[in-house]
Amino acid sequence: MLVDERSFERARLRMVEEQIRARGIRDDRVIAAMRGVPRHRFVDPVFFDQAYEDHPLPIGESQTISQPYMVALMAASLSLVGHETVLDIGTGSGYQAAVFARLCRWVYSIERCESLARKAQHRLSAMGYKNITVVVGDGTLGWEAHAPYEAIGVAAAAPNIPAPLAEQLVPGGRLCIPLGSRHSQVLVVGVKHGAALEIQDVCGCEFVPLIGARGWGARYEELSD
Ligand code: SAH
Repeated sequence: MLVDERSFERARLRMVEEQIRARGIRDDRVIAAMRGVPRHRFVDPVFFDQAYEDHPLPIGESQTISQPYMVALMAASLSLVGHETVLDIGTGSGYQAAVFARLCRWVYSIERCESLARKAQHRLSAMGYKNITVVVGDGTLGWEAHAPYEAIGVAAAAPNIPAPLAEQLVPGGRLCIPLGSRHSQVLVVGVKHGAALEIQDVCGCEFVPLIGARGWGARYEELSD
């Protein structure tokens, strides 16, 4: 039973060794960020015991906090060095935004569901994060006001890459997004060259759907469960 901050920290360090380093993620800054962000504070207390386990967890509104390895893999795929402005799509609990915030200058995070966005914003402020802005909106349209971005991370699965996201990247900028159907997707990383993205597959994955004007239609969520 996890009861105090010391046991949470032990569980977190074990998570980084067994789920992240053991699977080949070696970026020291990503490792430090994953050791530093207390994932249990992003889940309901009934899930405290599972906060450092190797899977997503429910966060309400039929959504989930991503598997820790997926967050680390996405962060590593974006190759952040510290000066970047990053767009995080699908705020959810705010966990991925918190990890990104330790790796770059500023995180703009968009969440479609208002109650999740409000909760995440409160949680992140209470935890002392000062370089994250959360907004309610359709992330498939990006966030033009703060573009261009050096990196964009999308934590929900799309049928294909929403065009506004590619447009809002700087030259050489990186986009990481799961692409595919409801229960089978590939995490890809795209690097912007000219107007196009050069795409590489990272690995298979399973994320909740990205619902929006340039993603899946709203009925997709109910239809495909
Ligand atoms: N990064 C989150 C994981 C969230 S799951 C975390 O660390 O907790 C994906 C989230 O994407 C859900 O909260 C869902 O509501 C949101 N989402 C789905 N479509 C979206 C869209 N078009 N724009 C913004 N958020 C979206």
